[in-house]
Amino acid sequence: MGEKVIALSDLRAQADVPEIPADAPAPDGLLADALGRPLRDLRISVTDRCNFRCSYCMPKEVFDRDYRFLPQTSLLSFEEITRLASVFARHGVTKLRLTGGEPLMRKHVDDLVRQLATLRTPAGEPLELTLTTNGSLLARHAQALRAAGLSRITVSLDALDDEVFQRMNDVGFPVADVLSGVDAALAAGFGPIKVNMVVKRGTNEHEIVPLARHVRDQYGPQVVLRFIEYMDVGATNGWRMDEVLPSDAVRQLLESTWPLVPLAARAPGETAQRFAYADGRGEVGFISSVTRAFCGECNRARLSTEGKLFTCLFASRGHDLRALLRGGASDVQLAAVVSSLWSRRADRYSELRSASAASGVARQRIEMHYIGG
Ligand code: SAM
Ligand code: SF4
Ligand code: SF4
Repeated sequence: MGEKVIALSDLRAQADVPEIPADAPAPDGLLADALGRPLRDLRISVTDRCNFRCSYCMPKEVFDRDYRFLPQTSLLSFEEITRLASVFARHGVTKLRLTGGEPLMRKHVDDLVRQLATLRTPAGEPLELTLTTNGSLLARHAQALRAAGLSRITVSLDALDDEVFQRMNDVGFPVADVLSGVDAALAAGFGPIKVNMVVKRGTNEHEIVPLARHVRDQYGPQVVLRFIEYMDVGATNGWRMDEVLPSDAVRQLLESTWPLVPLAARAPGETAQRFAYADGRGEVGFISSVTRAFCGECNRARLSTEGKLFTCLFASRGHDLRALLRGGASDVQLAAVVSSLWSRRADRYSELRSASAASGVARQRIEMHYIGG
């Protein structure tokens, strides 16, 4: 087997402090970027820390005892996050996703949810508040998150077999505890829950059918299993195309056991292609960021743990909104900055991936646990 070269370039410091435009119209929820895409979805990384070491995200060899995570003072406070989120809501964001790192490792994250639940769109609607978690601490927190106003939960789970799962999280965390987290979330009223499985060829493709069977038998339509293609995010996971199992192959594998019927997209910008089991036992989704890029409808922005705005998951540079916040910028000024940054956005990395791979030009990329998945 070839040796993997793991390069770690720390891009966290690379960000500009955006200029505050002199004049900007008041936000009316109708932004469009350079390719005509609106801004609807803000993903907020609430911590860069995690208790797992999934090799495709935070490989143990890099994120070890010597790795310097962000100090507490760098993190946006809950008040700062809420203030920025309110600015984004005025610009058309209707959905907030708390992520990380492992978001449930940030203390009192339910307090943040409670604050975010007070925000409204320009039409007076509450925002959709979601959270993506590895599930390890979910059993403990599900009830409080629900009470605080969280709308939906997504749990990441890469295998049903305990040995495979423990190898993938690389800290020996048992799968039974994640499943208890799913049960607790359902009991707290979060159904239907999404469960995301990153498929890595040669690592867990033999877990696709067993996990699908378990979800169908145990939960039916209350849990929607989604298969994510292994992506080339960051610079530390040693990504190789031959470890990507295309969604079409995953779908064929499932269809050989359970016939599937395609479902229409529910909303523009939906990342997953959805299919229903023909026997009515629920649905599955496929997130094919490598083989079927969905940049054309990408309406997502990401806010890093320390308040840098990234307009693409594969960006190498952020825009330092925390510097503006802490420098005394008003809400009007912050709104003008967001408007100006979004109007210049032309990112479509996944669509261009094959072209840049062919040219051999490698691009620097920020780590996913830092800007949030
Ligand atoms: N720790 C939480 C979790 O695992 O759900 C939230 C953060 S994690 C970065 C968000 C999502 O990104 C997870 O579903 C994870 O599986 C996915 N992810 C991380 N690295 C990935 C990669 N290289 N390719 C595809 N998905 C990845
Ligand atoms: Fe942690 Fe989530 Fe990354 Fe796994 S995918 S290392 S659980 S942040
Ligand atoms: Fe959006 Fe960038 Fe992903 Fe394309 S590559 S879907 S623009 S985040």
